[in-house]
Amino acid sequence: MELLYLPVIPTRGIVIFPGTHVTFDVGRNGSKGAIDEAFGDNKNVFVTAQKMAANEKVKADELYTIGTVSKIEQVLRLPNGLTRVVIRGIKRAKIESIAEDDSPVMHVTAYELDTIDMEDSKKQAYMRILRDEYKKYFSVNHKMNADKYMSIMSFSDPELLCDIISAEMKFDIDIKQQILEECDLTARIEKLIVSLSNETEIVQLENEIGVKVKENIDKNQREYYLREQMKVISTELGGDIAGETEEYRERIEKLKLKAEVKEKLLKEVDRLSKMHGGSSDSSVIRTYLDTVLALPWNKTTKENLDIENAKKVLDEDHYGLFKVKERITEYLAVRALKKGQGQILCLSGPPGVGKTSVAKSVARALNRKFVRISLGGIHDEADIRGHRKTYIGAMAGRIMEAVSRAGSNNALILLDEIDKMGTDYKGDPSAALLEVLDAEQNMAFRDHYIEVPFDLSKVMFIATANTCRTLSAPLLDRLEVIELSGYTTEEKLHIGRKYLLPRAMDNAGLNNKQLVLGESAMRDIIEYYTREAGVRQLEREFSSIARKVAKKVVTGEKEKVTITKNNLVSYLGQKRYSFISANEKPEIGIVRGLAWTAVGGDTLSVEVNIMDGTGKTELTGKLGDVMKESAVAAISYVRSKASELGIDSSFYKKKDIHIHVPEGAVPKDGPSAGITIATALSSALSKKAVRNDIAMTGEITIRGRVLAIGGLKEKVLAAYRAGINTVILPKENEKDISEIPLNVRKKIRFVPVETMDEVLEEAIVR
Ligand code: ADP
Repeated sequence: MELLYLPVIPTRGIVIFPGTHVTFDVGRNGSKGAIDEAFGDNKNVFVTAQKMAANEKVKADELYTIGTVSKIEQVLRLPNGLTRVVIRGIKRAKIESIAEDDSPVMHVTAYELDTIDMEDSKKQAYMRILRDEYKKYFSVNHKMNADKYMSIMSFSDPELLCDIISAEMKFDIDIKQQILEECDLTARIEKLIVSLSNETEIVQLENEIGVKVKENIDKNQREYYLREQMKVISTELGGDIAGETEEYRERIEKLKLKAEVKEKLLKEVDRLSKMHGGSSDSSVIRTYLDTVLALPWNKTTKENLDIENAKKVLDEDHYGLFKVKERITEYLAVRALKKGQGQILCLSGPPGVGKTSVAKSVARALNRKFVRISLGGIHDEADIRGHRKTYIGAMAGRIMEAVSRAGSNNALILLDEIDKMGTDYKGDPSAALLEVLDAEQNMAFRDHYIEVPFDLSKVMFIATANTCRTLSAPLLDRLEVIELSGYTTEEKLHIGRKYLLPRAMDNAGLNNKQLVLGESAMRDIIEYYTREAGVRQLEREFSSIARKVAKKVVTGEKEKVTITKNNLVSYLGQKRYSFISANEKPEIGIVRGLAWTAVGGDTLSVEVNIMDGTGKTELTGKLGDVMKESAVAAISYVRSKASELGIDSSFYKKKDIHIHVPEGAVPKDGPSAGITIATALSSALSKKAVRNDIAMTGEITIRGRVLAIGGLKEKVLAAYRAGINTVILPKENEKDISEIPLNVRKKIRFVPVETMDEVLEEAIVR
């Protein structure tokens, strides 16, 4: 083993392989000295890499011990003090020892390393694999020079090929060093193949990423460019659609919408930007965007959850309604605690009893915006949920329209007349409404027109209905029903004096000095000019008086008008209603019943005539099916009890019966006329008179039991108005008496009954 004594050039990041030429610049004095020494004497140098490329000063132990004995072929001194050298690697060598002397040039004693060759049989295969791998690398690395590639591929000696490829590749220094250090040719080539294939993969990945980045940049640039062009074109053409779309984009950005919503809207803007400004399609999109952007996506009013305040507001706005107010405040308290929607309130009662205005007060108390949707007459699902944009003249549904009108996403929406909603072939609006009212689903309510989901969970819904009896079960299940029944005359007087009259005067611009309307006049208006459970008609009458008075005041005809019982006629015309008050005296076959109608309670008189005949029964008057059945049940009962009632038991063969129920102003139906019809029949057949100061309500079974009825309060109010002092009612309804206003209760004697016998006992004059 021959030892060589050589100057050293430590390299940074460069490994020199035997058989390859490398050009690099040298700056350090030690290295320059080594070059001078070797180049001048035509000697070899030992080139090896330093382990830490960054170090300026190299210590002996920081060098890789295996390097390359090399020849300096060319030296060029550059003006900047560097020396450029061309070096050719000759043979691998290993440092035996490092000479320790004071010379600035480092010297080593080293010995050359021989390569362990591979068997000839393997050479072919290894060469092929190596070439293939290199070819792959070449195919992905587009920066590589094809000529260089071709010349490298032409080498046919495996060792040389391996070294040249290793030198060419941009491997990390330690990989290159490992290949250099490997003396077994087979292992060396294998190492190279592995590293090559890794490198190919890396380059491939780099390419892919590069393509994506480029695509992105290209697309953005392209779009920007096109948009700018579009701007120019459309300004040239007159319509500034680009400016408009830009504005839409800004508005969308400002709204801070959810990603899904934003994306959808931007897409629409994109569509708009590609259209002709005056086309009808573009105006559809514009309307759509304007509608959606006008929605209160992030506008909320600060809710006032103070229950005391709510109570105060409700009291301020409404007279009476104690139970209703109490239930509403309870409801609000629960809501405040639970922070959810819970049940939906449904205010149920005849028109004009204050359902709308109670809901308005709730909105005022909670500091929510108030909007009303009238559901009366709706029978198309699209009314609730909107039409799809593809329809001509498509619109958002009433719900989203109301939200938009409210201008805040926590408004109080009044679903007015929920019981007047119909169903037809276009779908069931109540199903859509159910979804709106369902706290689970309405967080992302999708209107067909709006298309993007809107959160309705902050909205408070209150429904109103004249009667909840006709509502579908699933809908009823969502609702918490609060009944508002009609007012008594006394209550109407209060409401009139405190709220309605002052409001009517205010609207007409009158003050207290110009119009005086006394209590007796007001009572007459209530009793003879209105017939209603609520106070709407009353309000209209006040307005009408106020208008007439205002005219007189303005024309100077009068300065002050006082309205009394006596001059009422000149303002409101002749009395419109007279009371069907109690009959003058007891009569045979005429009985006063009590009915519940959608506009409150009413009295009805049942009249029965008995004539000689052949046992025919005739029912006339506007009788509903249920009332007809009640009549049949009553006849059946009377027949079975004929002898006890003192009636000829063969009456059903020899007599014709005619039952008549005069209609009055409002149609009535329901089973509660049962005992009234039975009493009238018994009276007519037994020829015994019925007391005229009595009224009754109750369903009858064919065995004469009396069953419970609904709407007792309204019925009793009607009886009271008609001047009746005794009311017969089913025993089961006794509990409802407490709901009747005290002043009415005091004036009326209640007779709860369980059987028809008790009814007759009370009603027939002895
Ligand atoms: P509804 O919605 O039940 O048909 P409204 O709420 O429209 O009835 O009421 C009709 C009018 O009567 C409104 O002006 C309302 O303010 C007034 N009103 C009804 N009940 C009361 C009451 N208890 N106190 C004061 N005003 C009332």
